[in-house]
Amino acid sequence: QGSAIVEKMFLCLFSPICNIEVPERLLSCYDYLQCYNLVERCITIPVREGTENEIMLVHSADYLEVVKSTQEMKEEELQKTSADYDSVYFHPTTFRCAKLAVGATLELVDAVMLGKTRNGMALVRPPGHHSQRNAANGFCIFNNVAIAAKYAQRTYGLQRILIVDWDVHHGQGTQYLFDADPSVLYFSWHRFEHQQFWPSLSESNYDAVGQEKGRGFNINVPWNKIGMGNSDYIAAFLHVLLPVAFEFDPELVLVSAGYDSGIGDPEGHMSATPECFSHLTKFLMNLAKGKLCVVLEGGYHLRSLSESVCMTIKALLGDPLPCLSGEMAPCLSAVESVHNVRAAHKPYWQCLMYEGNGRLSKDVETNNFFSPLLGFILPVAYSYQPDLTFIVLGPNQNLGRNEISLLISLLQGLAQSQILVLIQVKGYIDLIYAPDLKDNVQRIKELRKQLQQEWKLLQCSGK
Ligand SMILES: [Zn+2]
Repeated sequence: QGSAIVEKMFLCLFSPICNIEVPERLLSCYDYLQCYNLVERCITIPVREGTENEIMLVHSADYLEVVKSTQEMKEEELQKTSADYDSVYFHPTTFRCAKLAVGATLELVDAVMLGKTRNGMALVRPPGHHSQRNAANGFCIFNNVAIAAKYAQRTYGLQRILIVDWDVHHGQGTQYLFDADPSVLYFSWHRFEHQQFWPSLSESNYDAVGQEKGRGFNINVPWNKIGMGNSDYIAAFLHVLLPVAFEFDPELVLVSAGYDSGIGDPEGHMSATPECFSHLTKFLMNLAKGKLCVVLEGGYHLRSLSESVCMTIKALLGDPLPCLSGEMAPCLSAVESVHNVRAAHKPYWQCLMYEGNGRLSKDVETNNFFSPLLGFILPVAYSYQPDLTFIVLGPNQNLGRNEISLLISLLQGLAQSQILVLIQVKGYIDLIYAPDLKDNVQRIKELRKQLQQEWKLLQCSGK
């Protein structure tokens, strides 16, 4: 039995100048974890410092020297060095803390890859996803998650790694590092507001799909309005991330888990509740045989951050998920963003091609399962928010054992995981049965058209 772990956090007591990326973020998370009795349910793994060689998997030797040199600097020099970068605040302990954040993340990767735990979360700071090969940026010194991806490739020979960045800011640092690399699929949603919101880069938009061999492996979902909530996030997962992720079939999933995309955060101004993060986590646990490493990035509203971290860890531990509050109807702006991303990525992913001009996937079996599940059943189910879920499997449904488990697991996010499965092994059940993919595609399209006024999460699937 696997169980989640919480990294024993080392209190990084620095950043007297930055007034939001503060040590209290970790203290508060730990208090809440204790309150919910979650610490005792997790394995704790000792933290070490990341080595210079590990840091240089991603960063240049010159940049490493700059960060190292800040240990000896006086206030004035620190300010001067910080000013070389955008939104960075060096302190004499920054280098040590940043090395610990790297080391903690890598220890988690080792624990998951070696099967010491099924999954886990590293509560670290400073965060990492803005930092680049030669630059600190946006509170980030070393790119913890990017280093973890390179480390996992080098140490365990992994071919496909998925990075999901649900922080409210675009992890442009991570995008730059893997832009031309098809072995790492990077997904980020972020407050964008038509490029008005920091870091205000054109390459944060949906049309930045990756370069060269990496085309199709960089997915940006730009949020052009604030106030995005549970239904918008679920829509982006069901209609963009999950279909592509199942097709990509990663061997490891890393999450750049920023909770500034949650309600109350002064940076994000979004409205997703802490429960939403348990659902997002649960979805990701169905990939990579459950090998999931969640690594803290942003999140500056202490209560919202801490509650969301607890929700994430409860999901990692396999607890039933709380129902999502609010009407499950993505806003128009979110639907538009999702449509744009799907259109931009259509050339690269079978699951998205499949919706279009009659070109059918060569991987018929896979699409015949995932497309109805993610594009129809789950959106309807999440729109409806049932109190109990029945799954009826007839004798002629052609699903293998893995597909049946996955179907059940994905539906466990609903009805507080109260789920009843009826499997008829012999005889005949009169179910709608469409023998080939073309019929299924057509049938689903018609049903979607009929039902999308009522079940709003269906709106994102296609025009
Ligand atoms: Zn952020």
